[in-house]
Amino acid sequence: KRDFLQGIYDEALRLNRLVGNLLDMSRIEGGALHPEKNWYAIDEVIGTVVQRLEPRLEDHHLTVDLAPGIPMTLLDFSEIDQVITNLIENALKYTPPGTSINIKARHVDEKIEVSVRDTGPGVPREHLPHLFDKFYRVDKRNRSMGTGLGLAITKGFVEAHDGRLDVANEDGGAVFTVRLPRVRV
Ligand code: ATP
Ligand code: MG
Repeated sequence: KRDFLQGIYDEALRLNRLVGNLLDMSRIEGGALHPEKNWYAIDEVIGTVVQRLEPRLEDHHLTVDLAPGIPMTLLDFSEIDQVITNLIENALKYTPPGTSINIKARHVDEKIEVSVRDTGPGVPREHLPHLFDKFYRVDKRNRSMGTGLGLAITKGFVEAHDGRLDVANEDGGAVFTVRLPRVRV
């Protein structure tokens, strides 16, 4: 009975996530995002996400490098939380157990830069230009792993902050970089 209940619970979570993603995507496309921006240090957002994902980080080595003195900026906490969550979840999902994930934040050229870097296998080059398209997945076979909305939503939220999202392959792994403008008082 417990197994059945667990199955129902897992499927309910999955459906809830799917509906949430579909709603976010249609809000982004319909121009109906209303970011609620407040002053935050990016460290707070990263800390919150890492703490929440902690139970799922067992199989990976996660390191966080926060440069000292990153200025606060105006952001919608839950949107940027989701941005960082999606990137770390992908790094967990698409890399083998035992590999490393590194999150770095720094302040450079009036931008708050957050990068999520993993150690493999990276994204085949021909897929890179399409990776942020909605429903785009490199491996179309394993549909239970996702619907291909995560990165499209991530990009939408970053752009709602006048920021940009980039992806590259480095040292065999994928690096996703978010750059948010540093808003001054
Ligand atoms: P969803 O996030 O909606 O549950 P998803 O993870 O498949 O589903 P995206 O997050 O948009 O969708 O990612 C799109 C595709 O990009 C993934 O299916 C995967 O093929 C590839 N990808 C994303 N992150 C990585 C990564 N860190 N390393 C290798 N491939 C990646
Ligand atoms: Mg994803």
